[in-house]
Amino acid sequence: MDKQEVTRMIRQRMDAGILPRIIAPLTTEPGWPTSPTGHITADTAIGVVRCAACDAPGAQVAYRFPDGRIVRFHGRCHGLWEDECRRVGVNG
Ligand SMILES: [Zn+2]
Repeated sequence: MDKQEVTRMIRQRMDAGILPRIIAPLTTEPGWPTSPTGHITADTAIGVVRCAACDAPGAQVAYRFPDGRIVRFHGRCHGLWEDECRRVGVNG
């Protein structure tokens, strides 16, 4: 699956509310909360968990959000999702 295809799926899922549209703040930029509300952890279930972006098994990154939702991605897909979050971003 190529990058464009994964990006398209991510956009659809963000529109459908399946994927978060914001990146949990990990930085201390002005205006952002100083404490991270989300974090990335290495996932021990490598090879089993499906990626939230492309549906293929083998997601390596787990992203936990303040509401308790855990979204898992491949490393590459996680980067694509972040790019999309920045594109649609909190500033529109
Ligand atoms: Zn993926």
